[in-house]
Amino acid sequence: MLICFIVSPIFLQTAEAIAANQEATFPPLPKANKRADYYPLWRHVKKIARIPGGGSWEWRCTLCNGLYKGSYPRVRAHFLHETGKGVDSCMKTSDPGERRKFEDEQQEADRVKRRHDELNNASRQASSMEPRIVLEARKRKATQSQI
Ligand SMILES: [Zn+2]
Repeated sequence: MLICFIVSPIFLQTAEAIAANQEATFPPLPKANKRADYYPLWRHVKKIARIPGGGSWEWRCTLCNGLYKGSYPRVRAHFLHETGKGVDSCMKTSDPGERRKFEDEQQEADRVKRRHDELNNASRQASSMEPRIVLEARKRKATQSQI
């Protein structure tokens, strides 16, 4: 009986400390499983050499064999015929039917990225609310012990 009296308050304090610690650490964000999935069109080029600074590469299009330099927006522009991005359009995706496959790949990737962004935002919001919940729980406890 005596042991119970001595041990349990310590045990409770420890448990609380552990719980507080866990609340202080950020819960891990749901990670995008494969970051490369956001940039699917990299699959259609061969990276030749990394250009220092940023995500730029020297790359060769596996469809038209053209050699280019730049980061993903240029790869994308090459296949999707987006003009004004400083890269030639791929002549192998000139046919809208052919280009459609690349557009679909990119759209699917954009959808996945949006979904991940939403999940990340939701999880950040949830974790920023946690401290208030803990505080309110403490306040309730304090009020109860006064009674
Ligand atoms: Zn090409």
